[in-house]
Amino acid sequence: MNKKYLLKNATIFDGAGSNPFNGNVLIENGKIVEVGNINNVDAEIIDINGKALAPGFIDMHSHDDVAMFIYPDMDFKLMQGVTTNVNGNCGSGVIPHSSADIVNWYPNLEGIPEWSSYGEYSDLVNKSKTSVHSAFLVGHGPIRKATTGNEERMPTKSEFDTMKAWIKEGMEEGAVGMSTGLIYEPGRYSNTEELIELTKTISPYNGVYFSHMRNEAGNLIQSVEETIKIGEEAGCSIEISHHKVSGQENWGKSVESLNTIDEARSRGLNVHSDQYPYNAGSTSLFALVQNNAFTTGDGGMGSQTGDKVTIAGSSVDPSLVGKTLGDLCDEFDLPEQEAAQKILKTDPGIFIVTEGMVEDDIARILAHPTTMIGSDGVPLPGNPHPRLYGCFPRVLGKYSREDGVISMEEAIHKMTGLSAEKANLNDRGLIKPGLNADIVIFDEDTIIDKATYDNPRVYPEGIIHIFVDGELSVKNGKQTEVRAGKVARRS
Ligand SMILES: [Zn+2]
Repeated sequence: MNKKYLLKNATIFDGAGSNPFNGNVLIENGKIVEVGNINNVDAEIIDINGKALAPGFIDMHSHDDVAMFIYPDMDFKLMQGVTTNVNGNCGSGVIPHSSADIVNWYPNLEGIPEWSSYGEYSDLVNKSKTSVHSAFLVGHGPIRKATTGNEERMPTKSEFDTMKAWIKEGMEEGAVGMSTGLIYEPGRYSNTEELIELTKTISPYNGVYFSHMRNEAGNLIQSVEETIKIGEEAGCSIEISHHKVSGQENWGKSVESLNTIDEARSRGLNVHSDQYPYNAGSTSLFALVQNNAFTTGDGGMGSQTGDKVTIAGSSVDPSLVGKTLGDLCDEFDLPEQEAAQKILKTDPGIFIVTEGMVEDDIARILAHPTTMIGSDGVPLPGNPHPRLYGCFPRVLGKYSREDGVISMEEAIHKMTGLSAEKANLNDRGLIKPGLNADIVIFDEDTIIDKATYDNPRVYPEGIIHIFVDGELSVKNGKQTEVRAGKVARRS
């Protein structure tokens, strides 16, 4: 039941990056009806007391495609102000179901429904009553796994046809674009030509090519160039996923990676990045081993040392959680590579958190006008990376208010208006009449992330109310019973 609310006396951040202004917002039937000096209407009045009011945050880098069925509350996202997830990043996707990257990730898939098309998947998402809206990308991983597999060769004509049919079906169902994960199986076996050929399928739909690039370390610049080339030749908009510089020997390369983006934009290309603002990443231990992180360091993640790699999740052996790979090296009396291989034998799905980035690069990337915010959070059991609970408030509290890297209105633009425009989700992202009433009300003076590496499952401070589709989903800092999330289709 949608009610009519008058949100009075708010400091309004419109999501377009404008200076904040004081005013009232009227919402009804899930939409923003009026913004300004509204009085004398018959509506439930909520006094905002001068606190900040912004569009609901759009998480450009989500992995909740399946998690939303397991955790429909989606508290980890909603409670940080996210009202729309863009799922299907890093090449992971949900079609075909049999090849989807789900099984290794979650210990218990009971109750997870089956689907055989993006259409069926979307219907299930709409029925599943989650708290956050879900946009999706077509993931390259499962469609490649189901056709060409892990073979390092060009797909055949018929394999291409099969993959393109799946991509097309996803785009027709409203996907935002396609994603690749080029350090993972099977994405790592795909060459640039294959990816250009497939990406051409999304161009007629204004789709965006998202990529977890082949290399975020020594060959970062070549990888940015490859990503841009794929989008340019396919004729579509480009998003570099979790833009970062891994490995001490590479720190500072964000100057060049951002220059490469600027140069492409000056040629008329539509290139952006998303970012989570932390100096540690998180991925599967298997990917580190496969990308030579403990041996030559010449893979996509550079060199990693055992003391910086902490086990974040294992569905087989939870006692590993919190130990570093260095601890296990001592325990087993083995070097890093072999210690990692030993524990992967019992659980190939082990997730880790690994330190490897530096503040200068993080701040430089965040300050760049083409960077948006994406949590990359993965809601696995264990000790997930704190970005799952804290990414957005951290940008607002630490990087804007405390460190002054960007203004509050820029920070909000990077998580709302800019993201909606990039993803062609034109019904959200701004405080403007006619748009969805996805709204976050927070305290500019106190908002901050509280999730840490040791204690990641902690909600941020400073979030007051959240509306999803005009329904009060968080009230006075507490999640309500409302589950108003729906599929968010490309406009
Ligand atoms: Zn990724």
